[in-house]
Amino acid sequence: MTPVCPFAKSARPEDVSAKKHQKDSASGGSGSISPKCPFGYDSQTFKLGPLSCMICRALLFDCTRCVPCSHVFCKVCLSRFKDCPLCGADIEATETDTNLQSTVDQFIEGHARIKRSHVENTDKGEVGEKKTVIYEDVSLERGSFLVQQAMRAFRAQNVDSAKSRLIICADDIRDQISRMGNTAELCSQLGAVLGLLGDCCRAIGDSGSAIAYFEESIEFLAKLPAYDMEITHTLSVSLNKVGDLKYYDGDLQAARSYYDRSLNIRRDAIKNKTDVPSQTLDVAISLAKVADVDRNLGNEVIAVEGFREGIKLLESLTLKSEETALEQRVRYLLTRVNSSFFILSRTVDP
Ligand SMILES: [Zn+2]
Ligand SMILES: [Zn+2]
Repeated sequence: MTPVCPFAKSARPEDVSAKKHQKDSASGGSGSISPKCPFGYDSQTFKLGPLSCMICRALLFDCTRCVPCSHVFCKVCLSRFKDCPLCGADIEATETDTNLQSTVDQFIEGHARIKRSHVENTDKGEVGEKKTVIYEDVSLERGSFLVQQAMRAFRAQNVDSAKSRLIICADDIRDQISRMGNTAELCSQLGAVLGLLGDCCRAIGDSGSAIAYFEESIEFLAKLPAYDMEITHTLSVSLNKVGDLKYYDGDLQAARSYYDRSLNIRRDAIKNKTDVPSQTLDVAISLAKVADVDRNLGNEVIAVEGFREGIKLLESLTLKSEETALEQRVRYLLTRVNSSFFILSRTVDP
């Protein structure tokens, strides 16, 4: 799952203004209140609250109570334990807590939905007594919040919980798109969230739904201008993921066409910018993927060409000394591509 939050960009200006407000109020110029969740479920200052599961550290999903100690966890999270992970008591039985779960669901439903912009100036004459109260639009933070909850649940392998949060998030964005149209920001957010949903489905082996989500993600990301590096990367990764799923399904022709689309996007990306090593590595990865399918399809001559081009690209890379992680990836790929190339070129060119 991609660690980059699709809302990170849109959250940045908000953070800046929040900090500015704090500074303003500290200096006594004007007092303003930035939006705060009473339970501490803000994107920056998350605390474990009464509505969260101590195992996955996300909001409770399918809330289950231990008998007799009464501690609550998500059903899936708790299912991996014999004793209560909080107090160590034997779990004699478990029971579903629908009341608490509905509180959690209501909380999610209402979270960051306050939309009020209000500026009030009192007693213009009195210097230093001006109070400005601004309730800002916090709808953007709702997206970050839901993605954060989903990521936590996903990392703890509570995939259904993650999916449920992401579905709400995707619905929110669709709703915004229906009102505001396909703006670049909304398309990139929806594309990313749909990609995460695809990752969830892939993790539980539901490749049919995973492909459907990745395809939809591709559809939205493809609407966006090609010059944005992050979007180009996400789009090509989504294409490769569909390619991989088709590959494992044994549909090599379909796999090749997805890998090839990804390759073309990556090639276009380095046409203008040749100095970004990670993008060059991306092209080489794509070349290897296409060549690998070509080999399996019996197109050995084309495959050899692909591997050769990949090797040339990787060898042309000059990395700075601090890029050790990247260098390792380049070395690893080079070894793999070289051995494929070596084996294949002997059969093609005896
Ligand atoms: Zn949990
Ligand atoms: Zn307990």
